[in-house]
Amino acid sequence: MTNEELWKAVLGEMELSLTRANFTTWFKNTSVLSKDKNAVVVSVPNGFIKEWLENKFNKRILESIRNQNPEIREVRYTIGRPKIELARRDFSNVLLEKELESESDSGADKDIDGATNLNKKYTFESFIVGSNNELAHAACLAVTKNLGKLYNPLFLYGGVGLGKTHLLQAIGNKVLGENSSKNILYISAEKFTSNITETIMNRTIEDLKSKYAQLDLLIIDDIQFIAGKEKTQEIVFSTFNELYGKNKQIVLSSDRPPQSIPTLEERLRSRFEGGMIADIGIPDFETRLAILKQKSREKNYDFNEETFVYIATHIQKNVRELEGALNRVGAFSQIYNRTPDTKEVKNILNTYLTTPYKKTSPQSILKAVADFYSISGGDLIKRSRKKEVVKPRQVAMFLLREETKLSFPEIGQKLGGRDHSTVIHACEKIKSEVSVDEPLKQELVLIKERVYNSFEK
Ligand code: ADP
Ligand code: MG
Repeated sequence: MTNEELWKAVLGEMELSLTRANFTTWFKNTSVLSKDKNAVVVSVPNGFIKEWLENKFNKRILESIRNQNPEIREVRYTIGRPKIELARRDFSNVLLEKELESESDSGADKDIDGATNLNKKYTFESFIVGSNNELAHAACLAVTKNLGKLYNPLFLYGGVGLGKTHLLQAIGNKVLGENSSKNILYISAEKFTSNITETIMNRTIEDLKSKYAQLDLLIIDDIQFIAGKEKTQEIVFSTFNELYGKNKQIVLSSDRPPQSIPTLEERLRSRFEGGMIADIGIPDFETRLAILKQKSREKNYDFNEETFVYIATHIQKNVRELEGALNRVGAFSQIYNRTPDTKEVKNILNTYLTTPYKKTSPQSILKAVADFYSISGGDLIKRSRKKEVVKPRQVAMFLLREETKLSFPEIGQKLGGRDHSTVIHACEKIKSEVSVDEPLKQELVLIKERVYNSFEK
């Protein structure tokens, strides 16, 4: 077996046990450099990866190598060839004549700095690290220490309210805190787009472009928003190349990975995938508890353990909601000037918790959907495009996404190995239809009733 074949087998195994983003992050540009009787030397692209493979993956990698070569006792990691740079593009050098305009929403929030759009409250110190965001957090921190040199761009993705903006802002705050002369801009893709529209109307697009071109760190939040917006994509692309060519750092966030953003130009997609991609998942119970306690410290709330446990048990999918619930309990204690007991906490959160939390499983959802639409479980998985099965299948995908912790690719897997983009499409379709289609809404309620009642037995 050649070194190449050996590593391919190892990668194959690792790929199965990791999300696509994590797999790419940790194993892109790795290879087996040499192999002797009892040791294998693996080449990795940089020190950051080296550390993570040594500390987090070594055991699994070794196991996997030993499946092929039982006599191997040790794996060593060494930093290999540097990354090939993107060709630098030429740009006309437009000088900045006007003063740089501020991005802020005219002081809407006193905590937000007008020049950078950074909000001081989002720091690494106030960010709780759990297994759901460990990689993303480490990548963000590493970027602040190697601005423009380690990962460019850094691309974070994950669901709503899971801490993307917090981490993006923390990067900006840390870089600015350590060097106040750095030129930093945090901007939402939505604002980015509206700025471009404005400058097109005012014929000042070149000013805007040269303003972006002078940044040391550009952070664009919710980049999926530029899907389908041609002019904006063009400016993102030229700004990207300009900054990248000068080793200036770009950080992006999205609710989904680059390959799942619809109507994103191929050239942008490949740029976005060219650095580091890290995902953020749903926090586990311990992390939720730690976040609640952290937020309570920030707000000077003083609740008992039972209250925290109650909230962390009942709100699971979204840190923003977790905070919202905490604030409600906080409001109660301010009004009545005392800490509520658990029964009161339950009452306060009752409206927040429209459906009480019950555990479910993918199987019970698939069964409930199939039963409800009088088709077989097999029909959901089959390739058929018949109308009678297409809609139930989309509903199943939607419910799996809403009611379980499965990722889009995992849902695709459960439904006969469909691509995750199909799943995303289905989820979005059902989500938008529910708001206008009353019968469909009712159907979903009924199916959910089946799911949770059957599970209780
Ligand atoms: P997203 O941008 O992913 O939608 P945000 O970054 O806006 O989410 O996070 C929503 C809220 O939850 C913010 O107030 C943020 O501070 C908080 N939050 C999310 N994750 C964490 C965490 N790990 N530790 C502390 N606070 C968090
Ligand atoms: Mg956000």
